[in-house]
Order: sequence, then C-alpha cells, then structure tokens
Amino acid sequence: MEEKTTAPHTPCIFCRIVKGEIPSTIIYEDNTLICFLDIAPANTGHSLIVTKKHFETVTDLPDDTLQHLAVFAKKLAKAMSFALAAEGFNVLMNNRKVAGQLVPHAHIHVIPRYARDGIDLNWRPRKALPALLRDCADKIKRFKLTG
Ligand code: 5GP
Ligand code: ZN
Repeated sequence: MEEKTTAPHTPCIFCRIVKGEIPSTIIYEDNTLICFLDIAPANTGHSLIVTKKHFETVTDLPDDTLQHLAVFAKKLAKAMSFALAAEGFNVLMNNRKVAGQLVPHAHIHVIPRYARDGIDLNWRPRKALPALLRDCADKIKRFKLTG
C-alpha cells in the first residue's frame, strides 16, 4: 500500500533539496534519507538528516523510517568524532513551530561539539513538585508505550 505522507501545497524547501532543485552540501543519501550540511550551522559540520518523503514531525514517521534515521544519526556522530575531532555531539529534533521547528519537514540535527564552543542549547530548569511529577507520569502511562 502507498505510504501516506503529508505533502504540503506550498513548495517545501527540504523537498526541493531532495529533488535537487536547490543545491546543498550532501554527505550521504539512500532511498529513505538525505543528509546535508545546515546552511546556518551552530558549528562547522552541523548536519541535517532529512526524510526523502515529506513528513512533518516525528509522530508522522513510519517506525522503520525513524529507526533508519536514528541509526544513521549514530553513524554520523561516530564519523564526526573521527573526521572533525568532535568531543561530543547534540542529536536533536524540533517538532512543530512551538518547539522551534522552522522547516516543517521531519529532520534530525547532528551538531558536533567542542569544549568552550559557546553553543547554548540550555533551558532554564524549573523546580519539580513530586506530586506533579507523579501526576504527569500517570497521564503519559495511560497511553500504550510499547509494541
Ligand atoms: P528546524 O528549526 O526546522 O529544526 O531547523 C531547520 C534548519 O534548516 C535550520 O538550522 C536552518 O539553518 C536549515 N536550513 C533552512 N533552509 C536551508 C537550506 O535551504 N539549506 C540548508 N542546507 N539548510 C537549511
Ligand atoms: Zn518537504
């Protein structure tokens, strides 16, 4: 059966990169994903792992696609350790505008990190009340999380 994607009516910049209509610095591609360097990187080597089909967020991705992206992110992070002497990396995904997603086409950022590189991805930690934590966990646990 044909996979249902959420192709937008307006031209999607990452779909255009996938089609080769917009140039990008490609690191790797296969039938499922394309990986290219971010045009406005947090650090040199900041890469984007992008699905070839148009999906918007992580919750839209078929499991096998997400697995493929995640395994590739691991390989890329290892490659960054050797090729770019990265001392660490951030692997992250913004989902929906409210979470900082600027391009509504599912993608994972892999950012090589170095001591004192000055990149700030931090949020301000809040105090957590035990009762609130329990209530929150209970709410989430009502949904099926396995299988
Ligand atoms: P988001 O905020 O959606 O998680 O991240 C989108 C990323 O895509 C940003 O880091 C931005 O710099 C990058 N980006 C946006 N347009 C282009 C483009 O045309 N080419 C490349 N290589 N990266 C892009
Ligand atoms: Zn797209």
